[in-house]
Amino acid sequence: MFTLHATGSGHGLCLGRAHIFHRPGSEIPEYNLHPEAVEDEVRRLRAAIDAASLTIQHLRDNLAADAPEEMRAILGVQQMMLEDPTLVADPIKQIRQGLVNAESALQKHGRQLLDAFEALDDPYLAARSGDVGQIVERVLGQLTGVDRDLDSLPEQLGSPPAEIVVVAHDLSPEDLLALSRRGIGGFVTSLGGATSHSTILARSLGLVAVVGLPAAVRYLCSGDRVVLDGMHGIVVVEPDSAALTTYRQRRRKIAGQRSRLARLRETEARSLDGQRIGLYANIELAEELDAVHRERADGIGLFRTEFLFMNRPTPPDEAEQYRVYRTLVKRSGCPVTLRTLDIGADKPVAAADQWEDNPSTNSALGLRALRWCLHDLSLFKPQLRAIYRASAEGQARLLLPMLSTLEELEQVHHVLAEVRAELTEQKLPFDPNLPVGAMIEVPAAALCTDTLAQKLDFFAIGSNDLLQYTLAVDRLDDSVNYLYDPLHPSLLKLLQMTIQAANRHNLPVSLCGRMAGEPEFTRVLLGLGLRELSMVVSALQPVKQIVRNTDIP
Ligand code: PEP
Ligand code: MG
Repeated sequence: MFTLHATGSGHGLCLGRAHIFHRPGSEIPEYNLHPEAVEDEVRRLRAAIDAASLTIQHLRDNLAADAPEEMRAILGVQQMMLEDPTLVADPIKQIRQGLVNAESALQKHGRQLLDAFEALDDPYLAARSGDVGQIVERVLGQLTGVDRDLDSLPEQLGSPPAEIVVVAHDLSPEDLLALSRRGIGGFVTSLGGATSHSTILARSLGLVAVVGLPAAVRYLCSGDRVVLDGMHGIVVVEPDSAALTTYRQRRRKIAGQRSRLARLRETEARSLDGQRIGLYANIELAEELDAVHRERADGIGLFRTEFLFMNRPTPPDEAEQYRVYRTLVKRSGCPVTLRTLDIGADKPVAAADQWEDNPSTNSALGLRALRWCLHDLSLFKPQLRAIYRASAEGQARLLLPMLSTLEELEQVHHVLAEVRAELTEQKLPFDPNLPVGAMIEVPAAALCTDTLAQKLDFFAIGSNDLLQYTLAVDRLDDSVNYLYDPLHPSLLKLLQMTIQAANRHNLPVSLCGRMAGEPEFTRVLLGLGLRELSMVVSALQPVKQIVRNTDIP
């Protein structure tokens, strides 16, 4: 037994078996196997070879009439090579004796075959090395391609979904959605930090996660028994029976707490001295709406629209965005705060580098979020139009991320006026009084709230970024995580200044960073004067419980 420590998703406990996941197209994965997983791995290799052979057969059967005759012959040779038992004999030996995964065993054998063919004097046989390379690629493609389908992981592994722990370098939002859809227990990734988007999404989707753990892919083997402690960011590998008993007890306790908290759903978030506190939900996907209703949130305090833009070759157009925003505004029956595109730095939009006019977005201090939108109105305007149009259907609010200067706000107002004029001319309905607010998440904005308040309808404090920029601590960088302290006096001062400015100008102010959903900070935030908090849906009842037991001075 050994333990690995990193950053947890902040909730949950999962007892299961590790499954190493590698994205196809990336480097060929190399990892060690648990002895019990060896025969499954041999079967996986054989299945991949059968599938590759079937693909070739299919290609041969469907060759176009005008395809060169050599093509059929080449495919025939490749199929023969694939079906030759000596192709698998050596990799299988490596899997069994070296406890290595099928991909790395096959790749190594493929390299040896290539060298041997190329060394032959006979030019015909030497030329067959190309075929060897191709068949190895085909089988590797099958091997990695099989794993790619996270949706069918439970069937592939034959395990109960809740007992599968996916271990990967990184996982995309769609990957996480697939894991959650199939009820997978949790995941471990090399990348990520407390407020990275995989962690935020994990919490939203109820997946137990430990992130920022590069050692995981190195030290864990597929088939290892693991305990994933999302609360404390711990992975226990091959727990002994005493540890297993302790964790099973804890899991029962968590389930008990959960059912007690569920009873709070019907109660009001009212403090002991009678103040009603607004508890709102942060969501990333329209699919979370059912959970928002189930947990009786007062509204959606933050809809992170960037998730609509991630992992796709082109950004969604106005019509697609309108459909999503309208569904949210209409179906929620409560106020919905739609934040405009907040991409760059910790929120990479994987395909954005293919988008036209893409600036460099990797730096947290660069051309990102609102800056990028103002730089590229062809991206910004369709979103503003879609949000305005959705506002005709219910209680919407528009929220601007990463505002740093008054000039930016003036530019936004200018674009908004244009959008309203266009919609009026096109006779498309919208709410002309749609409230426009800004995230207060850059220290410059927090220090100028009196000025900004004159041109805004509300503030939403983004403590995740405000802390990152105030302490100069990259929120994704695990090595400086220890400095990322939400109780640092500098952050508390900026929060206090923002709240006081909002009160002076009679503006609603909420906080929607991660600390809003962490019960240990609830009293600090109430004490600072906040009366609206927006958080991951799963935190609503735990925070409500603290509110109901607090006497606010
Ligand atoms: C924040 O910065 O606190 C916030 C809520 O926004 P995000 O985490 O999406 O940057
Ligand atoms: Mg932010």
